[in-house]
Amino acid sequence: MVSRALDVLLLGPPGAGKGTQAKRIAAAFEVLHISTGDMLRDEVAKGSGLGQEAKEYMNRGDLVPDALVGKMLTKLLHSRRGALGCVYDGYPRTTAQEALLEDLLAELNRRVDVALYLDVPDRELLARITGRRSCPSCGAVYHVATQPPRTEGVCDACGTTLVQRDDDKAAVVRERLKVYRKHTAPLLKLYEDRGILREVDGAVNPDEVFKRLREAMGSIGK
Ligand SMILES: [Zn+2]
Repeated sequence: MVSRALDVLLLGPPGAGKGTQAKRIAAAFEVLHISTGDMLRDEVAKGSGLGQEAKEYMNRGDLVPDALVGKMLTKLLHSRRGALGCVYDGYPRTTAQEALLEDLLAELNRRVDVALYLDVPDRELLARITGRRSCPSCGAVYHVATQPPRTEGVCDACGTTLVQRDDDKAAVVRERLKVYRKHTAPLLKLYEDRGILREVDGAVNPDEVFKRLREAMGSIGK
């Protein structure tokens, strides 16, 4: 069989568990895990030209333009591991980003092979996200029900008092979910029409979710 790159989208609302599953897919299929948030932070931390440009937008509180994100993506697609394929963690989020990604891939004679959608009901997402408690000092994240610290409200690693980030508060989460669904509905339709959308129940335990994702990928890939 001719070896070729495998490009997998992992889509789903905030709190669906995309990061966890993307890492597992990347390891199992030996492809690059791309999270645009991490990619931006890396470029800014490295102080690259693209990173400095991105930082100006971020400092102003603006979104980094798609074209700039596209330039960073291109670098990753050409990297040694990225050339084998990528799993895109929560990207694209809009049809404009989708068009950009397809263009970048087309230049390499690649295309999105499968779009996996982690389906989780809003009620479950709210419980997952609003239960999060973060350490403002070391960044550790806990969950009041599923991953509590040894002492309630205190970071195991550094002893700092845990906080609930504004982003994790119920009213904000509801709004984030609304915006997410509004933007991604047309995307999902597009992948469905192309016959590459696979919906997977993301409300079960992570091992089971991963098993189902692999099954959904079926004969696609290696
Ligand atoms: Zn801590």
